[in-house]
Amino acid sequence: MTAHWLAERTKCFDASGIRKVFDLGSKLANPINLSIGQPDFDVPEDARRAAIDAIEGGKNGYSLTQGIAPLRAKLQDRVDVAYGHPDRELFVTSGTSGGLMLAILTLVNPGDEVIVFDPFFVMYGALAGVAGAKVVCVDTYPDFRVDPEKVADAITPRTKMILFNCPTNPTGAVADEADVRALAELAADRNVVLVSDEIYRDFCYDGPFVSLAQFNPQTIVIDGFSKSHGMPGWRLGFAHGPSAIIEEMIKLQQYSFVCAPHPFQWAAVAAMDLDNREHIDAYRRKRDLVVEGLAGRYELVAPRGAFYAFPKTPWGTGAEFVEKAITEHQLLIIPGGVFSHRDTHFRIAYAAPDAVIQRGIEVLRAMA
Ligand code: PMP
Repeated sequence: MTAHWLAERTKCFDASGIRKVFDLGSKLANPINLSIGQPDFDVPEDARRAAIDAIEGGKNGYSLTQGIAPLRAKLQDRVDVAYGHPDRELFVTSGTSGGLMLAILTLVNPGDEVIVFDPFFVMYGALAGVAGAKVVCVDTYPDFRVDPEKVADAITPRTKMILFNCPTNPTGAVADEADVRALAELAADRNVVLVSDEIYRDFCYDGPFVSLAQFNPQTIVIDGFSKSHGMPGWRLGFAHGPSAIIEEMIKLQQYSFVCAPHPFQWAAVAAMDLDNREHIDAYRRKRDLVVEGLAGRYELVAPRGAFYAFPKTPWGTGAEFVEKAITEHQLLIIPGGVFSHRDTHFRIAYAAPDAVIQRGIEVLRAMA
């Protein structure tokens, strides 16, 4: 009889869609797992060694709230070279998720509107809801292009924030430079906060990554090491933007996360010197495997980044198609309705060994 204890904010989102897939999957002996949004490569050895050294060297207390100085300095150097903004401060967060939560709680008031692009990363709707915001979706079907004109139409006097993610989870879309620039300029023009989730920035297969921050110096960038360095369990991210905003985010971190995991911050210093191009090249080939494997059988916008593909179901809703894939073929994928107001597609995460991807493609070809 404790249900009435729950705060209203727990009712503004629902995690059952993904949980259902994981529950069904946990009963399978030999699943073909293309459901997990994390790299299939491990943390590089030098970074693992640096983590062990940090733990054995007693770096197990709290760190400074904003992160250890060597990591901040190294990240700040990169950011300064990339953007050259006179006012761009940086701090270390507990994962990209931690940075997103701090940004939203620092900037969004109850009743504000937050624009997201549908389909979107599941956490965005939940976090905006927790802050009491109204989530306004800008539809990007069928090509998953972020159209600045549609965004302009969605802006109202209550719009506080545009939450943008590129390369995109769940579609693998990468916005064109012209659209990124137009979105950046629109936000500046209409005085709307831009938050840019750049966690997949290294995973661009067909051209260089372009950031909103290149065109709008007020952009708040949220980034992290989970995907680029194969360390999602180490909970390391960073955020940078105008110092007046970043200072407030640090203040909130002090009273919530306290600091990012201390020994792993030392490992991240080492990880930043390591080259992950080999992994990116491997993932480009995996992307090609998926695109070629589904060609002719599925409607698929060829992904240009991250490690996801988002094909249209050949029959049934996303939920119906995925249920059959799991129960009859042991193939774990995620229904599009988890990420979207439509349930017409499904997400493949191809951060998996080639043999698993091949098995998945065979099943999908047969199911179509
Ligand atoms: N943003 C996006 C778009 C993601 O896909 C993820 C992870 N799936 C995150 C943020 C969270 O990453 P982290 O592990 O750094 O919290």
